[in-house]
Amino acid sequence: MSGSIRLYVEAPLHAGAEIATTPAQAHYLATVMRRAVGETVRLFNGRDGEWDARILALRRDRARLGAERQMLPQAPEPDIWLLFAPLKRDATDLVVQKATELGASAILPVLTERTNTTRLNLDRLRAIATEAAEQCERQTLPRIEEARRLPALLAEWPAGRTLVSALERAAAPLVRPHACPAALLVGPEGGFTDMELDALRRHPFVVAASLGPRILRAETAVIVGLALLQAADGG
Ligand code: SAH
Repeated sequence: MSGSIRLYVEAPLHAGAEIATTPAQAHYLATVMRRAVGETVRLFNGRDGEWDARILALRRDRARLGAERQMLPQAPEPDIWLLFAPLKRDATDLVVQKATELGASAILPVLTERTNTTRLNLDRLRAIATEAAEQCERQTLPRIEEARRLPALLAEWPAGRTLVSALERAAAPLVRPHACPAALLVGPEGGFTDMELDALRRHPFVVAASLGPRILRAETAVIVGLALLQAADGG
């Protein structure tokens, strides 16, 4: 499988299924990777496992693929959400890419009192997540939601999901693996306000956790926090 091209598609995958690529995927196959009709690629859609598919037709802006054989069944994945306060564009892109690689099942941008960025291009973030999923051999895409305010997220929090909140200087234990479903919350560069910290502490599903003695940039905190949260099963 190493070196073979993996593409995410939305269409159902089964033997004989024919799939039309997006223009970007056709460009990638034809122009970037110089593939030709008759060669194979890997496909996944988040539901039907991984399939070998043959390139049936290929132009610069469109291609048709024929699914032939299921190579891997759909595997269970960890159910860990990431809640993070949007950062500057490059840092936000990095967070979405790394959270996808680290297996986050959903990415929920959260607006806090000290969040400066409020405008997010979700299409762009979804494209980044798709590319990361294709490259890291995960079988699903994280769900990327619209940004919501922290109080609204806390008020509507689903029962049974632990919210591990990364809090610097909080004398809390280090982030450790939690049973799924779980979520990691990382604050903005300016940190949470005292009011937000009080609100977090009032909710029984919130667990305060540390990422060590140094104050990390938010994007670093996301990467370390997700890695520690799922370290138990390598999820
Ligand atoms: N400006 C703040 C730091 C914010 S760091 C200050 O100097 O106090 C951005 C976010 O990363 C924080 O809200 C927190 O969620 C997370 N974070 C950074 N370092 C951390 C640590 N050592 N432990 C837990 N969370 C941390």
